[in-house]
Amino acid sequence: MSAPVVTRFAPSPTGFLHIGGARTALFNWLYARGRGGKFLLRIEDTDRARSTPAATEAILQGMAWLGLDHDGDIVSQFENAPRHAEVALDLLAQGKAYKCFATQEEIAAFREAAKAEGKSTLYHSPWRDADPASHPDAPYVVRIKAPQDGTTVIQDAVQGDVTIQNNTLDDMVLLRSDGTPVYMLAVVVDDHDMGVTHVVRGDDHLNNAARQMMIYQAMGWDVPVWAHIPLIHGADGKKLSKRHGALGAQEYQVMGFPAAGMRNYLARLGWSHGDDEFFTDAQAMEWFDLDGIRKSPAQFDLKKLESICGQHIAQADDAALRQECESYLSAAGLPALTETQSDGLERAMYCLKERAKTLPELIEKAHFVLTSRPIAPDEKAQKNLDSVSRGMLNELTPHLQNGSWDRETLEEVMNGFAAAHDTKFGKLAGPLRAALAGRAVTPSVYDMMLVLGRDETLARLTDLAE
Ligand code: GLU
Repeated sequence: MSAPVVTRFAPSPTGFLHIGGARTALFNWLYARGRGGKFLLRIEDTDRARSTPAATEAILQGMAWLGLDHDGDIVSQFENAPRHAEVALDLLAQGKAYKCFATQEEIAAFREAAKAEGKSTLYHSPWRDADPASHPDAPYVVRIKAPQDGTTVIQDAVQGDVTIQNNTLDDMVLLRSDGTPVYMLAVVVDDHDMGVTHVVRGDDHLNNAARQMMIYQAMGWDVPVWAHIPLIHGADGKKLSKRHGALGAQEYQVMGFPAAGMRNYLARLGWSHGDDEFFTDAQAMEWFDLDGIRKSPAQFDLKKLESICGQHIAQADDAALRQECESYLSAAGLPALTETQSDGLERAMYCLKERAKTLPELIEKAHFVLTSRPIAPDEKAQKNLDSVSRGMLNELTPHLQNGSWDRETLEEVMNGFAAAHDTKFGKLAGPLRAALAGRAVTPSVYDMMLVLGRDETLARLTDLAE
């Protein structure tokens, strides 16, 4: 039996969860969840200036919104620094790393001279093979002994075999002269110690993989499966930037995209399963595989995001959607719904969720049930409320006082009333929308009546009748 899958998301806290990071997290989450594995979270917080609690909190909130739950405790890379140093010292003890006493000035002079001679400026430390007896009592860094010839092959699950000429690799520093470990070492040690089996991350880290490989090999550790995924581009084919629109995952929450739709869309961004565009989490977990990740960058397409989100809203459970609307209002800093409004929203949900692409669109359609008497018609609705229309509303009211309050009966009453006035129901719809919702565009009149109930409907009609 193969070892259980362990993936991780390892963001550096930058103050928000980038949409690309959210997709990386999602891919790792799907891969682990679909295989009964574990999805771990490590905060790469070694940059102390940037890694504030607020920056970490922003990542956690973004992940919480997207429903990307992780297993176990959050790992802080910074807190593992002593362990990273221990590995560097282990390599030193094994003779796979060495103390380098070269000063910055010496290294700069070496580069200068190499440049002048048109040679490679890759630093070759004279200390690599120095006899320890010759070591001065001076500050030093610990460098790994990089392989000097041959090639290193990264077997990448997305990029295929990537071959690096070892003579392009330098003896990377593992420990700085103040004893602090470098980032590259930290990543490898953490991934190893966390038991990570699969690393799915942006292809901006592909170059790091060759250097990280040296550490795995020197320590004799198993190399995880690497999958370096192409970055996300904008519609113009350029790397996604502020110019293209929102970059933070949570900005999409504030725009009112439902989390399930966002997950579905992000999963499709660079990965595909045949022609399937719309799918559930369960399907995504079942289908997601590294083979389906494309090698070319995916382009972010807001229209497609809207379309997928619309489909998720349409098929969502009413109570869950009500909850999601409430979370959206809070995330967007908008007033919360009262208990009555929230109940009304759920009752109305069945007639709102078709064709709403975002939660604010859905809430806008729910205006009729969220608002309360007296209804103040907006400008467009006002146009449907001339005195003839108001007179009709007045006449209609008694017809709605008795009889059952169901769609069939209401249709019968309305059509009968329209016929008696030598008109069509369509003519009545405008004034009814205005009276019931104060708007010209609303869900169907029958749906509004059914959701509002007889008493409220009659009260609203009476308010505006004359
Ligand atoms: N901390 C890195 C980043 O945010 C990710 C490193 C990795 O996944 O190995 O880009």
